[in-house]
Amino acid sequence: MSYRALDDMSVLTYVQKVEALAPFCGADADLSAKEIGDGNLNQVFIITNRISGKSVVLKQALPYLRVAGDSWPLTRERMRFEVGALLFYGDVVADLVPRVLHHDEAMSLIVIEFLGDLEVMRKLVIKGQRFEHFAEQIGRFMASTHFYTTDAYLSSSEKKARLKTFSNPQLCKLQEDFVFTNPFMDSPENSCNPLLASDVAALRQDVDLKLAIAKAKAEYMTHAQALLHGDLHTGSIMVNREELKVIDPEFAFFGPQGYDVGTLFANLVLGALSHVHHTTDPERRASYQHYLLDLIPSIWRVYTHTFDRLWQEHNEGDLTPTAFWDFGGGKEAFAVYRRAYLNRVLQSAARLGGCELLRRLMGIVSVADLTQIDDKGVRVVAEQQAIQVARIWLTETITDGASLAGAAKYTVGLTKKGTA
Ligand code: ADP
Ligand code: MG
Repeated sequence: MSYRALDDMSVLTYVQKVEALAPFCGADADLSAKEIGDGNLNQVFIITNRISGKSVVLKQALPYLRVAGDSWPLTRERMRFEVGALLFYGDVVADLVPRVLHHDEAMSLIVIEFLGDLEVMRKLVIKGQRFEHFAEQIGRFMASTHFYTTDAYLSSSEKKARLKTFSNPQLCKLQEDFVFTNPFMDSPENSCNPLLASDVAALRQDVDLKLAIAKAKAEYMTHAQALLHGDLHTGSIMVNREELKVIDPEFAFFGPQGYDVGTLFANLVLGALSHVHHTTDPERRASYQHYLLDLIPSIWRVYTHTFDRLWQEHNEGDLTPTAFWDFGGGKEAFAVYRRAYLNRVLQSAARLGGCELLRRLMGIVSVADLTQIDDKGVRVVAEQQAIQVARIWLTETITDGASLAGAAKYTVGLTKKGTA
């Protein structure tokens, strides 16, 4: 069947014809559909069986960028990356992603489990909620999905075959332009808080920052280390107190591990800084900011432990085979090598996360944490703090997860310099 964009009527006819969804539809299908997409790129329907009360989610890519309308064409191919990534995640971290019930390449759509008990994390961060298992869950998600797609695990030929499958040029170009380039120069789609305009102008001429940003962009473009989610901010994570599910991996491609890590960390920082408005009581605010920022070293600890354990248990790739380390002192040398590898991921996360912090202040899309602050004079406080954090992440040597969080805590006034 050839492609056609579905609406809330035709989506029902479609679903009823899919054999894999027969158990969901039931014999006397009484289905209803509702378009709920708050996203920028696609249409998302919740389809409910009114008899059983069960729902599924159908997401379809449109042949243009939804926020910009049909004036901005974008191939529907991106759904192939989302499907490929979700199926792979289902193999390695099944508890941390929605189940894939059906996918249709010609129609550029996927049907996945409805996460009715979960909410988009960004909304809950704005409300000041805590998440008991978050560091363990997201640290394990990133470490596992990354490890199993690196050269440490895959054979050289398998890695190159996957690189080809996950070459995602159009969505990569969006990030190259809108994360790493246009925000830092004059470009018509950029916007910022008018009270931040002079900071933004200064930043666009800051040689040290521009050099660090250019270095980060080169890493994003050329360092095909592992399969990334590619857009791992708090809007791509659904949570409740117990569960966590990562959604929306349409930007998946082989890139630097630090991009997923840094994007996530940057969004935790933006969330924390935005509580200058969202929590008025100073003690409660400080406590929540500490909580969010302390997630950064906790996540990094889980990430490094999980990644390192998987590497020791499954050093099956062509990067440095076990025989390569088979000499007196080789075991220790392998440990040094793994530590250095992860340390480079952290440095890279700091740089790439620094770009994410900045582009949300002066590029095409900000984050709700900030845009929901109506008083521009309050919003600029958080934004100027974000610039200070980004400057540290981009230009200083970062030694551990605590120093990433420490930069933000110091900037907000939660700690004195040098303490976490
Ligand atoms: P886009 O790529 O267009 O941004 P998303 O995959 O982020 O689309 O989905 C848009 C929104 O739809 C999410 O922010 C979330 O609110 C909702 N959503 C997506 N998947 C599910 C799901 N499996 N269950 C419940 N809600 C979902
Ligand atoms: Mg998306």
